[in-house]
Amino acid sequence: MGLKIWLNDGLVDEAEAKVSVFDHGLLYGDGVFEGIRVYDGKIFELEAHINRLYASAGAIRLTIHKDKQTLINNTHATVKANNIADGYIRLVVTRGIGTLGLNPLICKKGQIIIIADTIQLYPPELYENGLKVISASTIRNHPLSLNPQIKSLNYLNNIIAKIEALDNDMLEAIMYNHEGYVAEATGDNVFAVRDGIIITPPTSAGSLEGITRRAVIKLARENSYEVIEQNLTRYDLYAAEEIFLTGTAAEVIGVVEIDGRRIGAGRPGAITKELLEKLEEYARS
Ligand code: PMP
Repeated sequence: MGLKIWLNDGLVDEAEAKVSVFDHGLLYGDGVFEGIRVYDGKIFELEAHINRLYASAGAIRLTIHKDKQTLINNTHATVKANNIADGYIRLVVTRGIGTLGLNPLICKKGQIIIIADTIQLYPPELYENGLKVISASTIRNHPLSLNPQIKSLNYLNNIIAKIEALDNDMLEAIMYNHEGYVAEATGDNVFAVRDGIIITPPTSAGSLEGITRRAVIKLARENSYEVIEQNLTRYDLYAAEEIFLTGTAAEVIGVVEIDGRRIGAGRPGAITKELLEKLEEYARS
């Protein structure tokens, strides 16, 4: 038995969940998406994800032919239909069916796809031992080109950097912006700890405004840590006491080596571990 997939106006069997080869989501990566977690049957920060989806769509002039509340209801219905207690939702809105030309304005209605499935997490050892990463030579998209705050279906910028990591037997790479400042990882936000202060680049440095990032900043402040948004250089990462990444799938994961430099004691640091615990507590509360 396959999954039940939400396609536009209702649930269909996985085998029937198909889109046209003329959909511009496929032809041009023209569309937007969200990745969302389900913890104990509850959808984590759904409203924030829906808001970001509509903001991304608005930025590329893509109309979502549903109001936010309807999309929220459709998402709940998809989770329920698949009996997902702990899992992952992929919400996709494509530009819809067009011609082989670029013109998005002649595309028919955008397609709405909601997939609720189980989740493939990083193995537990990685949370114990931490990730090794490299600095990607591929820079993050220039904000005046395709702003990284738009969560679009075109992930080639990140994919090319991910290939650099995989070529080096690593799972993640740090991406810098056109000025050489840290932007983000290929699928996660970046934080560094220096002198006990938690620092993350501002989104203007070229990163997605991560929903996990926002939750972690809030939780850290509630637990009396100083958190600042400030540009980070490659050296700042090399000199950090701790580095960690945040994201919907990864939650909070420590980085213990970057470009062959050991970070801290070569194990995920105390702040990293504490924030992972706090986030899990919060997600399940
Ligand atoms: N940056 C990028 C490029 C991402 O794709 C993601 C989501 N996987 C993030 C950051 C983290 O964002 P969030 O916490 O909302 O998942």
